[in-house]
Amino acid sequence: MMKDPIEHNIREVQNRIRRACRSAGRDTDSVTVVLATKTVPPERILEASSFGYNIIAENRVQEAEEKLEAFDDRWQDLDWHFIGHLQSNKVNKVLRFASMVQSVDRMKIVRKMDHRLKKIDQSLDVLIQVNVSGEPSKYGIDPSKTIPFIEKAASFDRLRIKGLMTIGLFSDDWPKVRSGYRLLREICDKIDERNIPGVEMKHLSMGMTNDFEIAIEEGATMIRPGRAIFGERSTPDSYYWPGIDNSSTTIKNVI
Ligand SMILES: *Cc1c(COP(=O)(O)O)cnc(C)c1O
Repeated sequence: MMKDPIEHNIREVQNRIRRACRSAGRDTDSVTVVLATKTVPPERILEASSFGYNIIAENRVQEAEEKLEAFDDRWQDLDWHFIGHLQSNKVNKVLRFASMVQSVDRMKIVRKMDHRLKKIDQSLDVLIQVNVSGEPSKYGIDPSKTIPFIEKAASFDRLRIKGLMTIGLFSDDWPKVRSGYRLLREICDKIDERNIPGVEMKHLSMGMTNDFEIAIEEGATMIRPGRAIFGERSTPDSYYWPGIDNSSTTIKNVI
């Protein structure tokens, strides 16, 4: 019997982070690992989290709700982020469990969230999702529209805008992947310079299994590995991003 590979995978991810931080001259503590747990059953999430990772990121509201129920009181130390495409009719549900929504990309969602948050007298940390790859399947705001979007969203005061998130280009053309991440950081710096009230550019959430070293080198503060820790998923990526080419998304070594 093969030993469960999660521990091995986590050590490997930690080594990759260390190497990338060293090459970027960064402190490893400046990178937060967010576990991308779509399709991963609760027991395996708990196992991974036992290595010191307490941020769980889910893509689908219903899947998250099912897991929360299965976790019952064991998830109290875990923070749940939402990273999937959010439908406006799911806003109330997502607010029941998410401590951060990383995928805010439309004014309709901003308005609905703010309205609901007022009703329940809460606020929420959010990231604004930007589509740096230009692939229509990836969701997110067009880079050129991000600043006006954030200026407008900032007036909805129940949302605390804490940074930007992106899903990079699915490709092994690493210079292209890198230029997307660099663009996100540049947008982040520009927003920072504007000192928009209520907006704090604290997080850059970028980098997944195939490319998180590049994201770290370009300034990621949160990376979102899934398969690097839990192994390949049985659902194809096109299930989450309709229309993408799956052939380029199997695990590869970046360095
Ligand atoms: C699935 C997913 C990830 C993780 O992708 P891997 O290739 O498994 O590392 C990260 N971010 C988002 C938004 C995802 O949907």
